[in-house]
Amino acid sequence: MEENQAQEGLPIPSIFKSTDTGAPLERCIDCDYPVLEGDRYYMIEKVFKRYPELNRTEVLFEYAICSVCYEKMKDAMSQESMQNLSAYMMQNTDFQKLQERIEEKPDDPEHWLSHCLIKGTSKEEMNEYQMGACFKGDKLATNFMPPFMVGELAMEEMNALLSKETKDEMDDFMGEHFGIPPELRKDLILI
Ligand SMILES: [Zn+2]
Repeated sequence: MEENQAQEGLPIPSIFKSTDTGAPLERCIDCDYPVLEGDRYYMIEKVFKRYPELNRTEVLFEYAICSVCYEKMKDAMSQESMQNLSAYMMQNTDFQKLQERIEEKPDDPEHWLSHCLIKGTSKEEMNEYQMGACFKGDKLATNFMPPFMVGELAMEEMNALLSKETKDEMDDFMGEHFGIPPELRKDLILI
C-alpha cells in the first residue's frame, strides 16, 4: 500500500482497471498519451453487458481518454446535443442519493456506482450499464465529477437527445477505435 493516499485521492478502483490484466489502463485510446504516468487528467469509461441466463457480465468496451482528446470529442459534438445532454443530466440526476452513497462509504467508489445515477435502478436489475470516472496518474480525481454509473434506460433517453451530426461523430469514433458498427454504438454515450 502506498502512503499518503488519503491526501492525494483514492487509488484507481479495480472496476476501472483492465478487465483482461487487472492492471491500470496506461494509454489514451486516441493519441496514445501515457495517462498513468502523465500530468493530464483522463476519463475511463466502461460498458458492461449482463447475460442473466449465463450468469455472466461482460465488458463490451473499456478505454482511457486523455483530457485533450476528450475536449476534442466534446467540441465535435453539436451545440444542440451538448445543451440537451447537460439539461437532461441536471434535471434527472439524483445528486442527493449520490451524496448519501459517498458519505456512507467515502473510501469505496464501487459503492457509489451501485445504482443508476439517473434512474436509481440497481446494477443487479439491469442488463446493460456504463461507468465512467476521472483520474490523474494513479489516483481517482473527483474535482470535476464523481464516478458515475448510468443504466440502459437512461442511456437510451440520452441517445435520443443527440443530433444526427453528433451520432455520426460518435459512430466514427467507435468505428475507428473499436471496430464497432454504428448499430451497436448506441451502447455508449460520451458524458
Ligand atoms: Zn489523448
